Amino acid sequence: MTARRILLVEDEPTIGAAVSDRLTAHGHEVVRAWDGPGAVAAFEEHEPDLVVLDVMLPGFDGHEVCRRIQAVRPVPVLMLTARDDEADVLVGLAVGADDYLTKPFRMRELVARVAALLRRVDRAAELAAAPEPVRTWGDLRLDVGARRVWIAQDEIHLTPTEFDLLVCLAAAPGDVLSRERLLAEVWGWAEASGTRTVDSHVKGLRAKIGADRIRTVHGVGYALDVEANR
Ligand code: CA
Repeated sequence: MTARRILLVEDEPTIGAAVSDRLTAHGHEVVRAWDGPGAVAAFEEHEPDLVVLDVMLPGFDGHEVCRRIQAVRPVPVLMLTARDDEADVLVGLAVGADDYLTKPFRMRELVARVAALLRRVDRAAELAAAPEPVRTWGDLRLDVGARRVWIAQDEIHLTPTEFDLLVCLAAAPGDVLSRERLLAEVWGWAEASGTRTVDSHVKGLRAKIGADRIRTVHGVGYALDVEANR
């Protein structure tokens, strides 16, 4: 695996040191920040490839940090939440986090999630280097290489995760993809608890491109609705 620069934002010394040691042991360069303002400053100074971000922070919280750094430059963000609170997770995903882990978590799990997010960055770079032709379904237009989406003449701004989800659904228009399959393809991991993550991001995607463009097949998954996109 290529060494990457990871910004770790965590105010709890024990957890911070443990995470930092583990990521360093996997060959990554770790830059640390301990509060909201420090995280934003470190992001701008060090230009990390990925951010591991605690939600509860002094100054302002991880959600605000995520909102601010995503406005500077899209970057994969793994949120660390103190409790398995659905509202907390939904806010995190809404401000641009790609994935989340609930404390306490196993270090092995953290390393796996980080690796999965970094693989997505590589895949996006590969697609951008060898652009595919622009694909269209009715008024929905998708430029996979440039990672841009339009509805008629209006460009739609998707988060990196929403974009990857749309690409995945668009690869097989009309086919129903299970939540587990989407989780494996977009997030790079497969665990039953992660299907809620898929639902949240599909909700975000629908809010931007129109709810009827993605069909829900209850108990199974989602499909790009070919009829609605005609
Ligand atoms: Ca904290």
